[in-house]
Amino acid sequence: MGFLKILLANLRKGPATEAFPFGPAATPDRYRGRVSLDASRCTGCRLCEHVCPGGAIRIDEDAAGLDITIWHNTCVFCGLCAHYCLSHAIACTTDWHLAHAQADKFALAERTRVAKVPCARCGKPWLPASDAVMALAFRQRTAETEALRRLCPDCRAKASIEGGRHVRTHH
Ligand code: SF4
Ligand code: SF4
Repeated sequence: MGFLKILLANLRKGPATEAFPFGPAATPDRYRGRVSLDASRCTGCRLCEHVCPGGAIRIDEDAAGLDITIWHNTCVFCGLCAHYCLSHAIACTTDWHLAHAQADKFALAERTRVAKVPCARCGKPWLPASDAVMALAFRQRTAETEALRRLCPDCRAKASIEGGRHVRTHH
């Protein structure tokens, strides 16, 4: 009799578990799921590659930029890359739909290109500070900070030696 009561009550209440895979599953906002990279925020510092315990991040540099590969199959979702990335270019998303066949493990990767830009003075390609880093570094961005940002480290050093004079750039 007690059993029948419970059965009827449960039938009235409906399922108490997640509807997934037939419906969405609740995911906490701070869930550490698939790692993703926003190239516009990245400055190519390689810290994420350095701290990744799984070796899931690989950065290949060539004359024109960086190729950043995140191997989802190798990631252990520790969140260290997102924690240490100063500009919040790399982040853990709440996407956990990463189930895949063993044969597809090398295809499960995010590949991002971060392009170098020519130095405004000497033309040498390099990676300038992203907007995200500039916003962190300077409370107020002036014409001078913007001009310095467009110089490669060598030309910036020369500009510093030139002192308080206007930062010269060639367009
Ligand atoms: S994603 Fe972040 S930590 Fe990784 S290279 Fe870019 S700026 Fe550096
Ligand atoms: S979450 Fe951890 S294991 Fe995954 S890419 Fe980032 S640092 Fe590497």
